[in-house]
Amino acid sequence: MRVIKNCLICDSTSFEEHLTSKDFSVSNENFTILKCKNCNFHFTNPRPKNEELARYYISDHYISHNNTRKNLFEKVYQLVRRIAIKGKYNLISRFKKKGRILDIGCGTGDFLNKCKTEKWVTKGIEPSEIARKQAIVNYNLDVEESIDLRDIKGEFDVITLWHVLEHVTELNTTVSELKRLLSNHGKAIIAVPNLESFDASYYKKYWAAYDLPIHLYHFSKESIIKLFKKHGFSLRKTKGMKYDSFYVSMLSEEHKSKKKNFITAIFIGFLSNLYGFFTKRGFSSTIYVFEKSN
Ligand SMILES: [Zn+2]
Repeated sequence: MRVIKNCLICDSTSFEEHLTSKDFSVSNENFTILKCKNCNFHFTNPRPKNEELARYYISDHYISHNNTRKNLFEKVYQLVRRIAIKGKYNLISRFKKKGRILDIGCGTGDFLNKCKTEKWVTKGIEPSEIARKQAIVNYNLDVEESIDLRDIKGEFDVITLWHVLEHVTELNTTVSELKRLLSNHGKAIIAVPNLESFDASYYKKYWAAYDLPIHLYHFSKESIIKLFKKHGFSLRKTKGMKYDSFYVSMLSEEHKSKKKNFITAIFIGFLSNLYGFFTKRGFSSTIYVFEKSN
């Protein structure tokens, strides 16, 4: 196990326990989330060492994120996915109509393919071999396992991390790399779960977006803004993700009661979105658009 002794955002050593829960997907092991008393950053601590992390990823949950169409649930899921991809693309096109985009953790490449069809120059990074091969075979995308980025500077107008930042082992290094890879006024578009959402506070330790231990960080609006500010970014826009609340609530219901409880999950997802629209809590997951400030 690896123990974080200083807060990764503010360097404080004063922490308190947020909650203890377990890995519901693979190992059933318990993990604790700590909160920095100074800056409100939440993180899994202790956490598996980098070389141990891979074994916590082996689960059907991850493999099910492919393009096979099976039952009604899968069909709805695929439909929502397509709408969500369009939404993500529309957000980007509000800032720039065309340019160079890097999608870190691009999965099977559906989003990047949308950008490609809109005449963006695309590049993807995806560590999972199964997903990467699908992206290359299905869409003929330029996707690498990891790229040696040391020689690249200011090359991208947009870099996207859709539910990726909470997984990266070196948080500060990653954010400073983003800055180096972006062009002047380039945008880092970051989607992460929001631990202040209604569904998070309703499900508590059963909240599926804690996803222990592979989610190493658990962001609030306050903590992620501090992190990016520290690395020379300014916040341009936030956008709630309205579908995540339903999906996360369904998984959380399963964690809580071992049953799917679709109706309850849809109700909680709906409530979470209401809170997202009308209060400061925010949605189940949030997209942040950060601009590289010079
Ligand atoms: Zn802190």
